[in-house]
Amino acid sequence: MKIAKDCVAAFHYKLTNDAGDVIDHSEGQEPLYYIQGLGHIIPGLEAQMLEKQVGDKFSATIEAADAYGERREEMVQVVPREQFEKPNELQPGMQFTVETDLGPMMLTISEVLETEVKVDGNHPLAGVRLHFDIEITEVREATEEELAHGHVHGPGGHNH
Ligand code: ZN
Repeated sequence: MKIAKDCVAAFHYKLTNDAGDVIDHSEGQEPLYYIQGLGHIIPGLEAQMLEKQVGDKFSATIEAADAYGERREEMVQVVPREQFEKPNELQPGMQFTVETDLGPMMLTISEVLETEVKVDGNHPLAGVRLHFDIEITEVREATEEELAHGHVHGPGGHNH
């Protein structure tokens, strides 16, 4: 069967950036399971999945706007180092979660200055064009229970 809305599909993937650096991959791991149409995977990739079937291999280039979004410079803020519990141990690349009015938000320290740090609320892949190599490994109808829960059960999903 072909991937359509409300199907459970599983796929192996390799994700690279424009420079060819591997950002993530599923080699040696379970394939990624998701339900088509629920926004579990980035919109640009979900659109490319439609009509694919088991055994299909394809490459897809997804622009940042259809992946993790464009970078927004207003998401970068400078805050005093003393706001942190361990101000002397701060390093670029450290990530931490803060509670905001919109829910938890992941921040990354992008630069450590003398008395302040730059923190970046953009997703680490915001502004990045993504290249996927995909292999479809499973396609099936989602069960009513899976659709009611909004997630996959069984292999690669929840067990409950
Ligand atoms: Zn469930």
